[in-house]
Amino acid sequence: MLLGEPNVILLVEDNPGDARLIRRLLEGTALRPFQLTAVDRVSNAVDHLRRHGRVDVILLDVSLPDTRPGSLDSLSRVSREAPDVPIILLTGIDDEDLAVRAVREGAQDYLVKKGIDSGLLGRSIRYALERKRAEVALRESQERYALAVNGAKDGLWDWDFKTGRIYFSCRWKSMLGYDEGQIDGDPAAWFDRVHPDDLPAVHLALSAHLSGRAPDFESEHRILHRDGSYRWVLSRGLAVRTETGEVYRMAGSQSDVTARKLAEERLQHDAFHDPLTGLPNRALFMDRLGMAIAHAKRRLSYTFAVLFIDLDRFKNVNDSLGHVAGDELLVAVARRLESCLRPGDTVARLGGDEFTILLDEVADVDHAVQVARRLHQVMAQPFKAHGHEVFVTISLGITVGAGGDYDRPEDVLRDADTAMYDAKTSGKARDAVFDRNMHDRAVALLELETDLRRAIERSEFEIHYQPIVSLATGRIDAFEALLRWRHPRRGLLFPNSFVPVAEDTGLIVPIGWWVLHEACRQLAAWQSPPWSGGDLAVTVNLSGKQFRQTDLVARIEEILQQTGIRPGKLRLEITESTIMEQAEGAVATLLDLRRLGVKLYVDDFGTGYSSLSYLHRLPVDALKIDRSFISAMDLRAEHSEIVGTILTLARTLRMDVAAEGIETAEQVTRLRALDCHFGQGYYFSRPLGQLAAGGLIRDGASW
Ligand code: C2E
Ligand code: MG
Ligand code: MG
Repeated sequence: MLLGEPNVILLVEDNPGDARLIRRLLEGTALRPFQLTAVDRVSNAVDHLRRHGRVDVILLDVSLPDTRPGSLDSLSRVSREAPDVPIILLTGIDDEDLAVRAVREGAQDYLVKKGIDSGLLGRSIRYALERKRAEVALRESQERYALAVNGAKDGLWDWDFKTGRIYFSCRWKSMLGYDEGQIDGDPAAWFDRVHPDDLPAVHLALSAHLSGRAPDFESEHRILHRDGSYRWVLSRGLAVRTETGEVYRMAGSQSDVTARKLAEERLQHDAFHDPLTGLPNRALFMDRLGMAIAHAKRRLSYTFAVLFIDLDRFKNVNDSLGHVAGDELLVAVARRLESCLRPGDTVARLGGDEFTILLDEVADVDHAVQVARRLHQVMAQPFKAHGHEVFVTISLGITVGAGGDYDRPEDVLRDADTAMYDAKTSGKARDAVFDRNMHDRAVALLELETDLRRAIERSEFEIHYQPIVSLATGRIDAFEALLRWRHPRRGLLFPNSFVPVAEDTGLIVPIGWWVLHEACRQLAAWQSPPWSGGDLAVTVNLSGKQFRQTDLVARIEEILQQTGIRPGKLRLEITESTIMEQAEGAVATLLDLRRLGVKLYVDDFGTGYSSLSYLHRLPVDALKIDRSFISAMDLRAEHSEIVGTILTLARTLRMDVAAEGIETAEQVTRLRALDCHFGQGYYFSRPLGQLAAGGLIRDGASW
C-alpha cells in the first residue's frame, strides 16, 4: 500500500446482505478512500488475486459454499495465494472457536459479523495493515541477514555464554574444509584447531576484550584445515554485555588471510635472502652476527667464528663462459657450502662471489680452521656450469669472537675480510686467521690507496731511466722507463711498494698512460739537440690491466703522433705471466701492436710458466732474461747453460735477448761470450733521474 493511494480491499462473502452491510460500514470508517472488490467464492478470490495484482487487505468469510464446513480451508487457500496480504476473518457467533484458531494460523484478526460497526472494522483493518507490514519487514530483514551470512566470504561465529555453545556459519566450517553439520557447536572445536604456537596469543586477545581492556577482539592465527595444513585466519569479534557489564554473548567473523600472509612471508623472505642462491643476504647475516655478539657478551664460554669466502678467479668464469654459467656456478657453490654446516650455522651470500659463514658455537680457532679445510676439500671436486667442467678454489679469511671482542657486526666482517684478502694475496686457495697485524696492514693499504689517487692529481710521479747497453758496442741502445713516486711523507717510493695496489684498484691504467706519454716525450727531447741521441729507444713497462684495455692500440698510436717518435723506437715490456694469463687474446693484441711498428719485449722471462715450446707462437721481438738467472750465473754453471739455451732458442726464432740485473764485470764477460745482445744492470748504471740520464747521452757513455 502506497501512501495516498486508496486501500484495495477484497471482500469474500457469499451472503449478499452481509456484503452490502460491510460496504456500508466501510464507507463509514475513518479510512482513506478505498476500492472494494467483492467475490462470493474462495475460488473467485484466488482467481482475482492471481489476475489483479495488488490487494492491501482481505476480508474473508469463514464459511463459504466452496469450503468444507468447520474448516479453515478458506484461510489456507487464500493466504497461500497472497502470503503478504493481511487477512481479517468474518465469522458468525457460533464460529468463534474456529476464528481463534485462525488467528493462530496467520489471520490478522477476526470480526463477528453481528457485533460489527464502522469503528471496529476501521481499526481492525488499520492494525492488520500495520502488523502485516511489520511482519514482512522483519521477515525480509531476517532473510537479508541469512543471505548475508551465507553469502559472505567471511565465516561467522556466535558464542552464547549462557549455554556455552557456539554457532559456526557454513562458511566458517567450509573454510576449514568441513560441511555443515560436521563441526560441533563447542568452542573447543575452534580452539583445539588453533596452531599451538598461536594459541596463547588468541587467548590473550580474547581475555583482553572480555575483561574490557581491549575494545574488540582481533587475532591473526593459524588454524588446522581438514587436509592437515594450517590456514592463516583473521578472527574479529565483539562481546555483548548486560547492563552490569557481564558478557552473555559474543559474535564475530573469521576471514581467510592465507594468501596475504604468504605474500607477506614471501616479501619478508625476499628482503632477507639472495634471490639467486636463496641464501640469507647481508642484512640477515648481519642480524644473526649481531645476535652472536650479544650472546658472547652474556655467556663468556661462548665463541663464534666468521669465515669470509671469496672465489678465486670467478671473473674468468663469467668472462669466458658467460653470466648464465657464472650464476649456475654460484648456486652450486652455495649448495656445497651449506653441505658442510651444522644446523645452527648460517651461510650467506654478500654479493658477487663473496660468501660468509657464521659458525654459531666453536671450541676455538682450530675448530674454525678445520671447517675451512673441509670447505677447501668439498670445493676440490669440479663443478658443472653450463655444460663445462669448472674448477673452483676459494680464499678464506677467519676471525673468531668471544666475550667482548666485538661490539659491531661490521667489525667482525671487516676482520674476516681482511684475513681473506691476506689469504688471497699470499697465493689463493688458502685460508688465513685474522690477527691485529693484518688490520694494521689493511689500514696502511687503504691509506696508500687514498694517497695514490691524490698522487696523480698532484703530479707526484716521476720516471727514472736505466740504460740498456749493447754488449757488442758497449754503447747505450735504449733506456728503460721506471716509475717512481715522490711521496710527500715517505719519500721516494719504488714500484714494488705501490704498483700492486695500483693494479688492484685499477689506478695503474691512468698512471700507465702518464708513464707512456712522459717517456715518449722525454725520448723525443733526447733525440734532438743538445743531446742528439738520435738512435735511442725507450722501453716502457705495461701492466696486465693496461694490456687488456680495449683502446690500447689507439691510445699508443695517439701518443706516438703527439710526441713524434718513430714507432720502432718504442719498446713495450710485457711480463711473461701477463701474456700467459691472457693466452690467445694476448697474441691478438700483440699482433695489433706489432702492426703499429712498436717493438715487443717479454719481461722477466723465465719466471712465468710459459714453456719454451710456446715461444714460437708469440709475436714478440725480444726476451728479457730475469735477473735471478743472471745473478745465479756466478754460482752455478747450469744457470749459464740455461741462459745459453735461451739465447740459442731466441736466435732460432730471430728474437733479441737482453739480460737484466747485471751487477758484475764477470757477468758481462760471460754474457758477451754467449753473444747476448743487450745488458742492463747496476754494473752499467742504476736507474737515473732525467737530468743524469741526459748527461750519459751527452757524454756518449760506453762500457
Ligand atoms: P722490471 O721491469 O723487471 O724492471 C727492472 C727492475 O730491476 C727495476 O726495479 C730496476 O731498478 C731493477 N734493477 C735493474 N738493474 C738491477 C740490478 O743490477 N740489480 C738489482 N738488484 N736490481 C736491478 P724497479 O724500478 O724497482 O721496478 C720494479 C718493477 O716494477 C719493474 O720490473 C716493473 O715490472 C715494474 N714497473 C716499473 N715501472 C713501471 C711502470 O711504469 N709501469 C708498470 N706497469 N710497471 C712498472
Ligand atoms: Mg721492465
Ligand atoms: Mg724485468
